[in-house]
Amino acid sequence: MKKVFLLLLLITASLAAGKIKVITSIFPVYDLSRQVGGELCDVSMLIPPGIEAHSYEPTPKQIAGLGKCDLLIYTNPYMEPWIAKAARGAGVKSEDLVNSCENVALLSGTNDEEADHHGHGGKDPHAWLDIENAAKMTETIASAFERKDPANALQYRRNAKLYIKALLDFDSAAKKSISGFRKKKFYFAGHFAYGYFVNRYGLSYTSPFKGFSPDAEPTPKALAKMSEQIKKDGTTIIYREELLSSRLADALASEGGLTVLELSAAHNVSKKELEKGVTFLSILSNNLNNLERGLK
Ligand SMILES: [Zn+2]
Repeated sequence: MKKVFLLLLLITASLAAGKIKVITSIFPVYDLSRQVGGELCDVSMLIPPGIEAHSYEPTPKQIAGLGKCDLLIYTNPYMEPWIAKAARGAGVKSEDLVNSCENVALLSGTNDEEADHHGHGGKDPHAWLDIENAAKMTETIASAFERKDPANALQYRRNAKLYIKALLDFDSAAKKSISGFRKKKFYFAGHFAYGYFVNRYGLSYTSPFKGFSPDAEPTPKALAKMSEQIKKDGTTIIYREELLSSRLADALASEGGLTVLELSAAHNVSKKELEKGVTFLSILSNNLNNLERGLK
């Protein structure tokens, strides 16, 4: 009995030791990484749930903790401009720092003429919202796992293949649904996160914000302009951003008698959503449902 117990203990310990430790920056790369890593990896997310992703930077304590990971995975240098320095400071080897968008062509503008000149470094960081990019990011993450843990390479490959299939299934469903939309333009009371998404599906949108980050409040002039457009267009739905106060959307809604629905760019999720098991794909499905309500 004692021997069996000891054996079990040894097996458990060796399994735990075999798990590669992966730290990810924000929710999209966290979810893609856990989909690929499955039970074989210990994947954690650096940004605490509920925190706005663009203005987030890790604390010195979190930076010190980065040194303990096998892989540090981030979105791209425009989303997490702080990461290279933080990784260097923590002693993460350059080959263990993974830019998930290394094979993705980042967009330099949005479809809104006002936002064109206000991006950070001129690139739009929200690449994950184009399914083809999300698939490429998944491939890059899988390759990093294979390099780090060649013994389980086959399983990572399998997981990635299955997940990419799920992404492409969503893409087909979205294309089919959106092709039947009566309206192709939506109104969004948040920052310009949807360039990749609208490009992929032939949609467009207007926002009173400027640029790719929610740090600059819209001007009263921009709000009035959008309010006018909404009236002209006869739309009944206004979309609000995840994890941002709905004050703006509510103000526009009460003025025009509109319904407020959420569109989440999946930068991050709340603690409650994380506990409920929300995924990147479940967020996309919810977005599609909400767009159907507004545009179909
Ligand atoms: Zn954003």
